[in-house]
Amino acid sequence: MTTADPTAEPEPESAVETARRQLERAAAHLDVDDGIVERLRHPTSVYRVTIPVERDDGSTEMFTGYRAHHDSVRGPYKGGLRYHPDVSEEESIGLSMWMTWKCAVMNLPFGGAKGGIVVDPKELSSDEKERLTRRFAEELRPIIGPMKDIPAPDMGTDPATMAWFMDAYSMQEGETTPGVVTGKPPVVGGSYGREEAPGRSVGIITREAVDYYGWDLEDLTVAVQGFGSVGANAARYLDDRGASVVAVSDVDGAIYDPDGLDTNDVEDHDETPGMVSGYDAPETMSNEELLELDVDVLIPAAIGNVLTAENAANVQADMIVEGANGPTTSTAGQIFEERDIPVIPDILANAGGVTVSYFEWLQDINRRAWSLERVNQELEEEMLEAWRAVREEYDSRDVTWRDATYIVALSRIAEAHEARGLWP
Ligand code: GLU
Repeated sequence: MTTADPTAEPEPESAVETARRQLERAAAHLDVDDGIVERLRHPTSVYRVTIPVERDDGSTEMFTGYRAHHDSVRGPYKGGLRYHPDVSEEESIGLSMWMTWKCAVMNLPFGGAKGGIVVDPKELSSDEKERLTRRFAEELRPIIGPMKDIPAPDMGTDPATMAWFMDAYSMQEGETTPGVVTGKPPVVGGSYGREEAPGRSVGIITREAVDYYGWDLEDLTVAVQGFGSVGANAARYLDDRGASVVAVSDVDGAIYDPDGLDTNDVEDHDETPGMVSGYDAPETMSNEELLELDVDVLIPAAIGNVLTAENAANVQADMIVEGANGPTTSTAGQIFEERDIPVIPDILANAGGVTVSYFEWLQDINRRAWSLERVNQELEEEMLEAWRAVREEYDSRDVTWRDATYIVALSRIAEAHEARGLWP
């Protein structure tokens, strides 16, 4: 039996609650001014907009959108835009806090932001999604810009969404401004390798973590929950390097082959929804069962809050690498700590996305594209650099991998706050 903290908030906990607890845990290890920690518990500002959209049948519908700015001490705000029915002000704030830490762990000159629209994008036609995106870009125009706040794709948005967003902004500004968003198609200033980057970095960090524990990638069994862009690219990266990916899933269910699936043969959920659970595999199971499989590495790469007080005691994996943002609740994190199951956190593992976003932004500003080889090479170097910084903290303190990662991030942010000081 594991004992969860009785003072913990009842689950499900919101992203902002999880993010605040993680901040406080890291702060306890550092000599950071209380005022700075208090500041970082709150967003700088949150914008709420109402977006009128003409549906294909001629009717008009209102949608609610948010953009949360958390902290910009190290550079312009940066973070994705999510189209999902669960988008809320609270969620945007929590996710914007994670972006601040993520950018700091990667040592990128960006702060943290996040936003989105409360909508199920599957219920919109492509034309409706385009109109929604263009109007959202216009509503956010006063607060975004290549030196102010640079959105990117997240759940429910993709390169096409970013191209519309960039076009709407550019038309209004009267100049083509590719650097206002990242994650665009390469033909309009997007970076090669951007789409694969979050999954690729999950693969790189898994490889390093596995090596740290002296395990062999060739003997590794892996289960991946969620076979969208992050999950599919992580699974393929590890499969291509000899690991055995035994289970993957989409929202409808999981497929399992104890001898290892050919992940390059399974179409990802974004390419063709339904192709994962529809794949002809030896066994099928539910998403819940996948999370409790006896594998070496479990990669939750779908949505937040999937590892909770309810199932954490049943997880049999020897290591968890977070592909999604916030898949582990605080209580589940505590249970894994007690059970000595290392959890490599999202803000390190999936940070390849924002890292290649940074490369994209540099390419846009310089009006010069990099080759895919250069992108992947520089991504590898940046990931190893961040991994080394986190490993150093992990080795020198009695903390979890998550705490070690937050310590790296928070000390960089706190130092910048101290150097800049409070104005006026
Ligand atoms: N939405 C991605 C994330 O959560 C990428 C953000 C970006 O590239 O700005 O990291």
